[in-house]
Amino acid sequence: DCRNYGVLDGIPEAKKLFEEMLDISEDEVIVGGNSSLQLMYDTIIRALHFGVYGGDKPWGACSKVKFLCPVPGYDRHFAICESLRIEMIPVPYKEDGPDMDMVEKLVSSDEEIKGIWCVPMYSNPTGITYSDEVVRRFAALKPAAKDFRIFWDNAYCVHHLTDDDDTLLNIIEECKKAGSPDMVFQFTSTSKISFPGGGLAVIAASKNNIDFIKNQMTVQTIGFDKLN
Ligand code: PLP
Repeated sequence: DCRNYGVLDGIPEAKKLFEEMLDISEDEVIVGGNSSLQLMYDTIIRALHFGVYGGDKPWGACSKVKFLCPVPGYDRHFAICESLRIEMIPVPYKEDGPDMDMVEKLVSSDEEIKGIWCVPMYSNPTGITYSDEVVRRFAALKPAAKDFRIFWDNAYCVHHLTDDDDTLLNIIEECKKAGSPDMVFQFTSTSKISFPGGGLAVIAASKNNIDFIKNQMTVQTIGFDKLN
């Protein structure tokens, strides 16, 4: 009975919807509330306070935390960093994604860089979609920080506006193939295909990441709004 307590990670029907949308399996997803931005914010707060799966200490225990920010990007990603005093390093965009030479160089040389923001499809505000090569280069990153994460905000994954759809490689699969299955947190929501604030949001990641997050989330809520 959906009106009851429990089922922290979402009812099976809701999980199935997102499994199809993102091409992932049921143990790789948590269905949250109505906002993916809130899930992103919470994910960073947890990382700062508790660390991430496989990390040996909280991000917040480091003297400095830095994020790569491809620009132009989504202002609210940057607002999260600003409010949590995470230093932002701008990375320019090319036609098919962020400048990957720069991303690879910075990520592999600076262990204070703990994350990067990505809007990989119909990227906000430019509209570009990352090429297969860019996605594969993301999956192949060798970060200096062992607890580095790609924040893959796939907000527009099914939001095709013309008959000529863009395509995007599955970052979770590519990270598995590259031997770094835990390196990515993916987010999406139905805010733009239902009603803003009236849809469903999810975080998708490896089973290790999802189990790690659920252990912490169970203290925060007994369950999200399943009837919605
Ligand atoms: N991510 C991007 C790239 C957005 O443009 C927006 C809203 O405009 C959001 C996230 C916020 O989505 P939600 O309603 O799921 O919090």
